[in-house]
Amino acid sequence: MFIFLKPLFYQTYSYFKSYLHEISNLIFPNLCLTCERELLDNEHNICLFCTMEIHMIYYDISTQENTLDKLFWGRVKVHRTFALFYFEKDTHEQKILHQLKYGYKAQLCIQLGKWMATDWLQKNQNLKIDAFIPVPIHSRKKFNRGYNQSEQLAKGISSILKIPVDCNFIRKTKNTNSQTKKSIFHRRLNVQNVFKLNNKWHQYKHIVIVDDVVTTGATLEAMISIINKRYPALEISIFVLAMTK
Ligand SMILES: [Zn+2]
Repeated sequence: MFIFLKPLFYQTYSYFKSYLHEISNLIFPNLCLTCERELLDNEHNICLFCTMEIHMIYYDISTQENTLDKLFWGRVKVHRTFALFYFEKDTHEQKILHQLKYGYKAQLCIQLGKWMATDWLQKNQNLKIDAFIPVPIHSRKKFNRGYNQSEQLAKGISSILKIPVDCNFIRKTKNTNSQTKKSIFHRRLNVQNVFKLNNKWHQYKHIVIVDDVVTTGATLEAMISIINKRYPALEISIFVLAMTK
């Protein structure tokens, strides 16, 4: 008897589910985070039109020195760098980065992390990576925001590349002020002595630091310096979602 009722049950359940979905869309329409147009069912967080307008970085990072590489020349040794798009003021990219930090959008971070990994895979398939290390934020900031955006990006990347994320490798011991309005000199001062490595000894040969946005590179430089002191032979690469032009 139940065998005959089963298809009917699933059909009713699926009607009910789509009905609830329609109702919730009416009350809380699913809008694009940048243009606020209503999203289609197959769009998530950002509509296709806005996605196409994002200023992607297209050069082949496996063979060419890029702008992000050059940012660290003479400062710290970086093995490889990767950035998904350029960041400029008053653009879709700025709205996306704002939502990552202040919009309570952990799922968006994971979605963008997957996008980074997919794009990177098309360019670099022969790089052996031991772990992704997200740029840590202070525990108080993480509590207020609900998540660390770099950690969520790393989780998205990891879900595609199947390489672990190590959130305990390094931590931030001081809650620094925002870097956005500081000069390069003051940014460097602001992040000096704020990171601390975990006491556990690691056998990593190549790690990738994951960050949301790079402007002057002061935070990454401070992190890499402290890692280099403990592990001089360790190769360090950088994956960022966005970099300033
Ligand atoms: Zn849009």
